[in-house]
Amino acid sequence: MKIDVLPVGWIETNCYLVTCGETREAILIDPGWPDDSIAHRIAERQAQVKLIVNTHAHFDHIGGNAAFVESTGAPLAIHELEVPLLESGGAASVFDLHIDPSPPPDRLLEPGEVLKIGSLNLKVLFVPGHTPGHIALYEPDHKVVFVGDALFRDGVGRTDLPGGSTPTLLASIRNELLTLPDDVTVYSGHGSETTIGDERLNNPWL
Ligand SMILES: [Zn+2]
Repeated sequence: MKIDVLPVGWIETNCYLVTCGETREAILIDPGWPDDSIAHRIAERQAQVKLIVNTHAHFDHIGGNAAFVESTGAPLAIHELEVPLLESGGAASVFDLHIDPSPPPDRLLEPGEVLKIGSLNLKVLFVPGHTPGHIALYEPDHKVVFVGDALFRDGVGRTDLPGGSTPTLLASIRNELLTLPDDVTVYSGHGSETTIGDERLNNPWL
């Protein structure tokens, strides 16, 4: 498995290209901007993108949906509760910004379902609070979890945007993320990676 971290857009959102080392099938997580670095890395890896997933529908995580759905032909997947935010441009207008409108999702993610990408098995975890339908993707064999804006190194997601809830977010982190093993690497929507163990120990919000 290869994990490429590609920070893109106004606020350096981490887009992740996760490629199966055996089949070169790949999943593209949160293409936040139609940035050339993403297209270049897909080509470099000779990756076949099979699925595009948004952890949630804020503008900085969906701004490249239109471009990469078109260029890869891959279906777009998101949780049902994020669809209104996706359709309304991901709250970009709150910040006076504009993004390319996202195409509608091809697939709605169910908590607990497992996305099979080559030999990778990514389990959908439901972690609302930053937004109502926020999900994370956990790969137990490789001990990695992609958490979007739910959890950061020494931080948690903001909850002051429409649909946010601090108690809901903290419950999601406690019940869905802190129950994972300590040595699971956490890949967040912004900033550097961390581990479940480090956050359990050091995160002042938890
Ligand atoms: Zn967000």
